[in-house]
Amino acid sequence: MSEKSKNDEELFSFKCPSCDKGKIKIHKTTYDVPDGDKMLLIKFECNICNFTNNDIIPLTTNNTPGIMTLRVSNEEDLKSKIYRSPVGKLEIPELELFVVPGPSADFYYTNVEGILYRFENAVSIYRKNLEKDDVQIEEIDKILHDLHRAVMGEFAFTLIVTDTEGGSYIIPEDESKYSFEKFENKELN
Ligand SMILES: [Zn+2]
Repeated sequence: MSEKSKNDEELFSFKCPSCDKGKIKIHKTTYDVPDGDKMLLIKFECNICNFTNNDIIPLTTNNTPGIMTLRVSNEEDLKSKIYRSPVGKLEIPELELFVVPGPSADFYYTNVEGILYRFENAVSIYRKNLEKDDVQIEEIDKILHDLHRAVMGEFAFTLIVTDTEGGSYIIPEDESKYSFEKFENKELN
């Protein structure tokens, strides 16, 4: 993470919910998002077993609507974090994949790698339900192939989050690959 983040560690005396022996260490990181907001990233970690959990809390609600674009071209970029609000639309045009806004959308906070795995899973399930002679199979197999390369950091793509109300974030590993384009009021109608 960049010099814009501040780290803080605390050892709490409550027991690990997984192994029931370890103590939970909480790492708190305050991150200044490029558009001026602050986010609190919280990581829970057991000192004995492998239990970890992450949470993210927006500390300010700047809510600048706009389009966030992240260029992903190597393994480091896959660690960039994404927070998609319920109104945020997420898409990867090169892979013809998108998540539309809505309360039933199934993820809010993850990294780029996590998004690719979810897509890979969803596309695999979709393919299984197709008839053997379905015309879509060739195209779907190409998408799965590209997705697999993307997970390895071998397929460059663009991740775009469009948020008409604000509240979604991309926290890039490499800020030179991130851009934010503010919506003008007329575009919201
Ligand atoms: Zn534990």
